[in-house]
Amino acid sequence: MKYISTRGQSPALHFCDILLGGLAPDGGLYMPEQYPQFSDADLNAMRAMNYRDLAYAILSRLIDDIPAEDLRDIINRTYRAEVYAYTREGQNPEDITPTLKLEDNLYLLSLSNGPTLAFKDMAMQLLGNLFEYVLAKRGETTNILGATSGDTGSAAEYAMRGKKGVRVFMLSPHQRMSRFQSAQMFSLQDENIFNIAVRGVFDEAQDIVKAVSNDHAFKAQYKIGAVNSINWGRVAAQIVYYFKGYFAVTSNNSQKVSFAVPSGNFGNVCAGHVARMMGLPIDQLVVATNENDVLDEFFRTGVYRPRGSDNTYHTSSPSMDISKASNFERFVFDLVGRDSAQVRALWSKVDQGGSFDLKGTGLFEKVSDYGFISGSSNHQNRMQIIRQVQQQYGVVIDTHTADGIKVALQHRSPHVPMLVLETALPAKFEDAISEALGQLPERPAPLKGLEQLPQRFEVMDADVDAIKAFIVAHT
Ligand SMILES: *Cc1c(COP(=O)(O)O)cnc(C)c1O
Repeated sequence: MKYISTRGQSPALHFCDILLGGLAPDGGLYMPEQYPQFSDADLNAMRAMNYRDLAYAILSRLIDDIPAEDLRDIINRTYRAEVYAYTREGQNPEDITPTLKLEDNLYLLSLSNGPTLAFKDMAMQLLGNLFEYVLAKRGETTNILGATSGDTGSAAEYAMRGKKGVRVFMLSPHQRMSRFQSAQMFSLQDENIFNIAVRGVFDEAQDIVKAVSNDHAFKAQYKIGAVNSINWGRVAAQIVYYFKGYFAVTSNNSQKVSFAVPSGNFGNVCAGHVARMMGLPIDQLVVATNENDVLDEFFRTGVYRPRGSDNTYHTSSPSMDISKASNFERFVFDLVGRDSAQVRALWSKVDQGGSFDLKGTGLFEKVSDYGFISGSSNHQNRMQIIRQVQQQYGVVIDTHTADGIKVALQHRSPHVPMLVLETALPAKFEDAISEALGQLPERPAPLKGLEQLPQRFEVMDADVDAIKAFIVAHT
C-alpha cells in the first residue's frame, strides 16, 4: 500500500515514510493509493472481534511496511482497557470505544475514555507507539513542536511521554486555558515533555510554530516534527472505531447506520468517510459544527470559504474553533474523482485566502452520494441539549458532544441507528456544564485534585528566537 498526495506532485510512499511528516512536499495531503475493500464475508469475520483484533484487521491493510507481529504488538500495547479506563457506569472498558444507548436508534459512541478525556487519545496513543517504533528502527530522534489551546497538546503529551527518541515542546497561551487543561499538561513530570506558556494568545503561539517550521535549516538540524491533525496515521487510527460502533448496534451487514460527528478540522469525520469507502455500510455522515461553520456552509451551499483566524469565534465548544478545515482536501480529492490538477486549482484559491464554489459544477450535486449532510449549533443550543439529555436520559454530556446531538436530531431517519460520537467527557469543561446544569460534572476519581499537583512549565515571551534558543538548549 502506497500513499499519494492530493496535489499529485509528490512521489508515492509507504506508511512509515509519511508517518513522521505533515504535508506532502507539494503541499498536499497523503491518501491511500486505493482504498482496501472489506467484503461481506470480511465484515462477518470482523463482527465478533475485540477492538485490538479489529484494529489489526483494518490497519494491517493500510500499513504494509511494519512486520505483522510488530504491528500486532504495537496495537496490543495501545488499545488496553487500562488506557481507556474512564468509562461511564455500565460500560465495559474492554470495549475501548463502548456505546451508550440513549433511546431506540440513538446512541453515544464513547471515544473519550482515554487519559486526556477527549477522542484525540484514540489516535494519538497509537501514534506515540508508532513514532517510538519507527524512530528506533531508523536510529533517529524527533523534536515535536506544537501549539495548543487545549485538547491536541495534552493528547500529544500523554501519548509521547516517556517515549524514546521523542521530545515534545508544546506552546500554549499563558493563563488562557482552563485550570483543568493546564493542570493536565503542566503536571507531567516526564523529562521529554516541555511545556512553554507563551505570553500572548493562541494565534501568537501558532505563529511561532509556523515560523520555526519555515526555517528549513533549523527544522532539519533540530529534527523538528509535528503531530497535527493532517497526519495520516491519526486518520487511519480513527477508522477503527467506526467499524466497532457499526458492529455494536447492528446484527447483520444488510443494516446501515449513521454517524454524527462534532467537527472542526474534518479529521474525525474524514475517517468515517474512509471507512465508508472501504465498504462499511454507512448511511449518513452528519457533520456538526459550532458557530465556526466553515464546513456546514460547504455542505449546505457548495461554497468552501475558510475564514481568517481573526474571524474565528471563541465558543463554548472550543476544540472546534477553527477557521479552516485542514483535512477537508482529502474528501474533495475523492469528490473530484482523484483529479489532482483539479485539487491544485481549487486550493490555489484557498491558499491565497480565497474560496471556491462547487454548486452547479456537478460536483456539489455528488456530495450526497458520499452520505454527507451537516448542521451547526450555537451556545444556547448546546446549553439546551445538555439539559435535555440529562433530563431525558440521565446522562451528562460535554459541549462538543452536544453539538453532535443537536445536529443528529435534525437529520435522524426513523429506522436507521444514529451514533453520535462523544468527543470529550464533561469533566473537561466544568464551567460550561455548571452553566447548563447548575452543578459541576462528575470527575473521574484519579483526576480529583489534579490542579493541586506540582506543575512543570516555562513562561516565555512570544518571541521566535527565544523559543528556538530554548529548543537548542534542551536537545
Ligand atoms: C479536536 C476535537 C474535535 C474536532 O475534531 P476534528 O477532527 O478536528 O474535526 C471535536 N471535539 C473535541 C472534543 C475535540 O477535541
